[in-house]
Amino acid sequence: MPAVFVITGPSGVGKGTLIRALRDLVPEVELSTSATTRSARAGEVDGVDYHFLDREEFDRRVTRGDFLEHATYSGNRYGTLRTEVEERNARGAPVVLEIEVQGARQIRATMPEAVQIFIAPPDPADLRRRLEGRGTDDRETIEARLAVAEEELGARSEFPHTVVNDDVARAAAELAEIVRGELT
Ligand code: ADP
Ligand code: 5GP
Repeated sequence: MPAVFVITGPSGVGKGTLIRALRDLVPEVELSTSATTRSARAGEVDGVDYHFLDREEFDRRVTRGDFLEHATYSGNRYGTLRTEVEERNARGAPVVLEIEVQGARQIRATMPEAVQIFIAPPDPADLRRRLEGRGTDDRETIEARLAVAEEELGARSEFPHTVVNDDVARAAAELAEIVRGELT
């Protein structure tokens, strides 16, 4: 059975950064491209970073049953398309889902064999520093994400694995250990 890995945690904790590092360390792991209704950030490419959909199209696909999970996060919709996972599983490739906590809970219910990993900040104050440092979001967006993060940090104990993203190389190595352990 090919593995599915769920990587979750608050915005700005470094999920995307760690997944990029993980893919250098464990190249066979493939990342599912999510769908979202949020606008593309500068440099983001449709079909690569996300499938950017308008709300009508997103809702149509929800009704059609195209999503493995979907959630509203900070005013926008996000979801994992079944085809993203099924096509990779059919080839025997392990898949990583980078999703927020509500979606992780849905996957836990529908796909209990998926390996769930929560990425935590060394200190909650790091989230603000990292979101501001990333420079992709305006002040209002950052405040909305930090408000959601408070609740998300409380979900940490639901997850069988936690990786503290203190130092990227160290945390990525720990993440790679967990992933390799499940693949062997
Ligand atoms: P997420 O995908 O969880 O929203 P990102 O991967 O985009 O988070 O990281 C948010 C910001 O924090 C980026 O600017 C990234 O370079 C920085 N960052 C990631 N990991 C660390 C770390 N361990 N220490 C310091 N900064 C980090
Ligand atoms: P961002 O707008 O920063 O790219 O993503 C916002 C949040 O949505 C992040 O926590 C990210 O992990 C999450 N997210 C991205 N794709 C999905 C998805 O397919 N499903 C769910 N539930 N969350 C997602």
